[in-house]
Amino acid sequence: MSPTAPAIARPRADFTYDAYESLLDAALASGYAFLTVREFLTREPLPDRFVVMRHDVDRKPGNALDMARIEADAGVASSYYFRTIEETFEPTIIEAVEALGHEVGYHYEDMDRAEGDPTLAVRHFTRNLARFREHATVDTVSMHGNPLTPYDNRDMWEATTFEEHGLLGEVYLSFDFTDVTYFSDTNRTWYDEKTIVNDWPVGKSAKSEQVDSTGDLVDLIADRRLDRFYLLAHPDRWAGSYPELATQWLRDAGINGAKWVLWTVRRLRGTADQTSGHAGPDRGNRG
Ligand SMILES: [Zn+2]
Repeated sequence: MSPTAPAIARPRADFTYDAYESLLDAALASGYAFLTVREFLTREPLPDRFVVMRHDVDRKPGNALDMARIEADAGVASSYYFRTIEETFEPTIIEAVEALGHEVGYHYEDMDRAEGDPTLAVRHFTRNLARFREHATVDTVSMHGNPLTPYDNRDMWEATTFEEHGLLGEVYLSFDFTDVTYFSDTNRTWYDEKTIVNDWPVGKSAKSEQVDSTGDLVDLIADRRLDRFYLLAHPDRWAGSYPELATQWLRDAGINGAKWVLWTVRRLRGTADQTSGHAGPDRGNRG
């Protein structure tokens, strides 16, 4: 940390809302601008130092609204992508998140639902996007990764274009991950197993820095060792209290165990998808 940098507190308990607030505070105190995905794709020129903050809302949409309020209180705007499954697609929450100043988009999984048929997937996607647009302005979308299916939802784009759907872009396909440095809270760590990842999920990527806890990430931001951050935080992995976090952690551990069994069975049958770089159950909660 440079002598002039402000003192920045590390969070005590990780993946709590308090820890999330300390992450926002660290970035703001260190002079980073926050960008939504829409802003990243349209703002010219980009700020010297920024954080693109993205949220994939797999489930627990109420947690997304909690985070959206925390960010709004801090003066931060970010991007929230909701699935269309029943427990997640909550129009009142989607509208409330947008009203707080955030970007809202569709967390799509239409190749999975169409069992790999791109034409059918495009039809599903069109219908689902229209459902979102009844409640919010949608300019960008985010692929949902389901380790239990052999499909990559991004393959739908071989059969259609962003322009056909009035979209500016997609959260993986529209970024150069050698330019922005990507950190995801998958499995409640910000750490990737490999420093250079040539496959899932971000394509070619070069990382000079690795962090594990949110405290480590706060330090990395406070030290300004990177100028362009791209962070993915899943609201359902964060909680307002420690007991709630413990309950979620136990549930996720159970899900991971089930995923591991399924992945192993599929691999033994020789049907694991090698081409899209699915790397096994340790990456299983990438959603
Ligand atoms: Zn997801």
